Amino acid sequence: MTLEDQKNAILLLMDYAVNDEDQTPARELVDRYESDIIALHLFKEFYSYLPEAENDAIRLVRRLDKRGGNFILAVTTNRDTYLYLCNHEGAEFLGNHQEGIWDEEVLGYFGYRREQALEKFAALDDFPVYTPVGLDKGLCLMCAVERGELHRLGCPVEVCPWCGGQLVGCNCRFSQAGVDKFASEAQLDAFIEALEAKGRIPFDPVDQGVGFIKAG
Ligand SMILES: [Zn+2]
Ligand SMILES: [Zn+2]
Repeated sequence: MTLEDQKNAILLLMDYAVNDEDQTPARELVDRYESDIIALHLFKEFYSYLPEAENDAIRLVRRLDKRGGNFILAVTTNRDTYLYLCNHEGAEFLGNHQEGIWDEEVLGYFGYRREQALEKFAALDDFPVYTPVGLDKGLCLMCAVERGELHRLGCPVEVCPWCGGQLVGCNCRFSQAGVDKFASEAQLDAFIEALEAKGRIPFDPVDQGVGFIKAG
């Protein structure tokens, strides 16, 4: 699904989910984030499954935390503020801002206990408006990790530790797994194991900017 398809799917959902008087500002917000797949996943999730099952419109998106290409975003709407976990693959509803995060896996991943998260995120004004990943020079354009973090697996910017080429483009993934192509989950796992044993190359905005993709 292209960015444009994704945006059109959202606008269609909004025909039904947003009251007439809120349509214009809500659509302008989608326009502002139309180049950002992470925000588009968020809008799609929100307008597909309205948290209160009542018409609503997103007014503002704030970034509360990020780690390894995963973002905790706070979505302020006409009704309330809700928390979502978002990345390049999708968006997941975490709960109402006031109630905080219940998902133990998410809490563990970001390294806080439930009460700590409640306290940390209490004052929404302390947190910046979410910037589309493409405009944030410190983030990998493709998978949104920051300097020193490992790319999300399959990111086209990740450098191959064996040949220095593009990991998803060179042949090393097959030669390391001893196959011509990946035919099973087990072969892919074997490659990932070899990759981790060799040592993956973390994101560095200086070495691995957009120029790398063009060169590859
Ligand atoms: Zn990346
Ligand atoms: Zn290679």
